[in-house]
Amino acid sequence: MATLEIKDLHVSVNTDEGKKEILKGVDLTIKPGETHAIMGPNGSGKSTLSYAIAGHPKYEVTSGEVLLDGENVLDMTVDERARAGLFLAMQYPVEVPGVSMSNFLRTAATAVRGEAPKLRTWVKEVKGAMSDLDIDPAFAERSVNEGFSGGEKKRHEILQLSLLKPKIAILDETDSGLDVDALRVVSEGVNRYKADNEVGVMLITHYTRILSHIAPDFVHVFAGGRIVESGGPELANVLESEGYVKYTGKQEEAS
Ligand code: ADP
Ligand code: MG
Ligand code: MG
Repeated sequence: MATLEIKDLHVSVNTDEGKKEILKGVDLTIKPGETHAIMGPNGSGKSTLSYAIAGHPKYEVTSGEVLLDGENVLDMTVDERARAGLFLAMQYPVEVPGVSMSNFLRTAATAVRGEAPKLRTWVKEVKGAMSDLDIDPAFAERSVNEGFSGGEKKRHEILQLSLLKPKIAILDETDSGLDVDALRVVSEGVNRYKADNEVGVMLITHYTRILSHIAPDFVHVFAGGRIVESGGPELANVLESEGYVKYTGKQEEAS
C-alpha cells in the first residue's frame, strides 16, 4: 500500500530547439485502492507526466514534488523507483531485441523483489499469469516486444504488472490500438490485479471506452500541461458527449 502525491509539478523536455515546458503545475494524490483516470487531448502532456514520474532522463523536473508515502521519488534512480513500487506501462512499449521475454521478466522481478525468484515457483507464476492474459506460452522465448502486434505489447505490459506487483501502476493509453477482445482481456487483467492488491492506479487515456471496463473512482481532465477539471466517473460521460473542445477550443473527440 502506498500513496502517490504529485505537488505543483513542472516538467520540461529538452528538444533540438531548446528546453520546452510541458507540465505546468500538476497536483494529484492517489491513495491505495483508488483508480484515477487522466483524460485529455493528444499533446496535452499525459505521457510526459508518466515519464517524469518513472524517471525518464529526457524529462526534466524543474520544480514541484513527487512523493511515495512521503519519500521523494525524484531523488531515486529508475531502479529505486521500481523497487519502491512504481510501475509504468508505456504508451509505446520499447522493443528489446535479443532479450527473451522470460529473461526480461525474471530480471525485472529480481530487481523489484531484491532477490531472484525461486525458479520452480517462478515458472509456475509466469505460466499462470500468461494463461490469464491469453498469451501463447511460446511468447516466453521471443524477444521482448520485437514484432509484437499492438495488442500483444499491451498484454505483455499487463503481464509485467501482475508479476511485478507494484503499489502504484501508471497505465499510459493501455487501450490504444486494442480490438474489443484484447481490450476485455487487458482490462480483466488490470481488474484482477486491483481486486487482489490495494494498488493505486493512474489510468491515462484519450478515449472513454476503457472506462466502461476499468471503473475509475476519479476522472481528471488534462489540458495544456495541467489538470483543468476533476470529478467522479460521471465526468467521463460528459467528455464522451462533449469532447475536449471546452478546454482546448479545438474539436477533438473523447469517445
Ligand atoms: P500526450 O501524451 O498527452 O499526447 P505528450 O506528453 O506525449 O502528450 O506530449 C506533450 C507535448 O510535449 C507535445 O507537444 C509533444 O510534442 C512534446 N514532447 C513530449 N515528449 C517530447 C520529446 N521527447 N521531444 C520533444 N517534444 C516532446
Ligand atoms: Mg499522445
Ligand atoms: Mg501520450
